[in-house]
Amino acid sequence: MEIARRRWRGLIREYRDFLPEVGEEAVVCLNEGNTPLLESRYVPSLVERDIRILFKYEGLNPTGSFKDRGMTMAVSKAKEGGSKAIICASTGNTSASAAAYATRGGMKAYVLIPEGKIALGKLSQAIIYGAKVIQIEGNFDDALNIVRDVAERYPVTVVNSINPYRIEGQKTASFEVCQYLGAAPAYHFLPVGNAGNIMAYWKGYKEFYEMGMIPALPKMMGFQAKGAAPIVLGHPVENPETIASAIRIGNPAGWKGAVAARDESGGVIEMVTDDEILEAYKLLAGREGIFCEPASAASVAGVLKMNRRGIFKDGDTVVCTLTGHGLKDPDIAINSAETPVTVAPRIEKVVEILDL
Ligand SMILES: *Cc1c(COP(=O)(O)O)cnc(C)c1O
Repeated sequence: MEIARRRWRGLIREYRDFLPEVGEEAVVCLNEGNTPLLESRYVPSLVERDIRILFKYEGLNPTGSFKDRGMTMAVSKAKEGGSKAIICASTGNTSASAAAYATRGGMKAYVLIPEGKIALGKLSQAIIYGAKVIQIEGNFDDALNIVRDVAERYPVTVVNSINPYRIEGQKTASFEVCQYLGAAPAYHFLPVGNAGNIMAYWKGYKEFYEMGMIPALPKMMGFQAKGAAPIVLGHPVENPETIASAIRIGNPAGWKGAVAARDESGGVIEMVTDDEILEAYKLLAGREGIFCEPASAASVAGVLKMNRRGIFKDGDTVVCTLTGHGLKDPDIAINSAETPVTVAPRIEKVVEILDL
């Protein structure tokens, strides 16, 4: 029997016809994309209606978050344009991804992060991939303002989601969802921070719809954390606070686009509390076997909230994006669960603990 050769070549090559053109020699790629869409085995049992829920597990991208989808596009275009350096502000995952792709593309990465506010896993990535990391005595919004100013004056490309190529790369996640399901879901739930991803998914769905590849569009369901919910409140939040550091953003750059995605799709942008986020986070790990970061769990907390409001009907298909890997933020996992017990190295002692 002959071996059937199959390989995924990263999303720029796989989705070439749907993306801005990039010369082959400029492609900076770590084989991102092609992440699993996993059937939920437990959450539907908590929902009043007979619905199907699937998780788009973006934590399995090369640096552990969906940011890689946008970064492969943004860094490739920067390279094609002759840029020697990229810069970003970050709550963590953008910096990890920017650092990896810059290195892969033979470029420099500068990342500005809010001091003491970024999860350990993400900081360790940015450092070891070789970025120049600068901590700002301020929050994400302060860092992004500085990045914009620097890029206006110096020859460096911004790779935050204000860079339109980020959105282009990120929209491929909705292509993957549609190809897997053969259609768009009824609802797409995701966390909202700087609000690039909700725009990107919506753009992807609309493009597939306009090309006649899917018969209907989903409703976009965005969820902010209660302490960082500017879009829900209708005004910027001066000192955003939430355990979900990836969405701790008080003045999202993608505000208008997120509102447009909500209104055009007939969806919502709502908020969930940190307690609801942590409950969903523990449920995903403990009941589904999927370890995501707290911000990601806001999507599932959103499903449970919308269920209480009775929006679902039998037969609905719901997709939740789990934006980042749980290992990004090990401190929260450890603080959310029981500490392991310690016993003498004897079988009786161990058996005493086991409930066999
Ligand atoms: C960046 C990020 C978000 C927020 O996405 P936006 O595009 O900024 O709305 C959510 N979760 C994780 C894990 C992230 O890294």
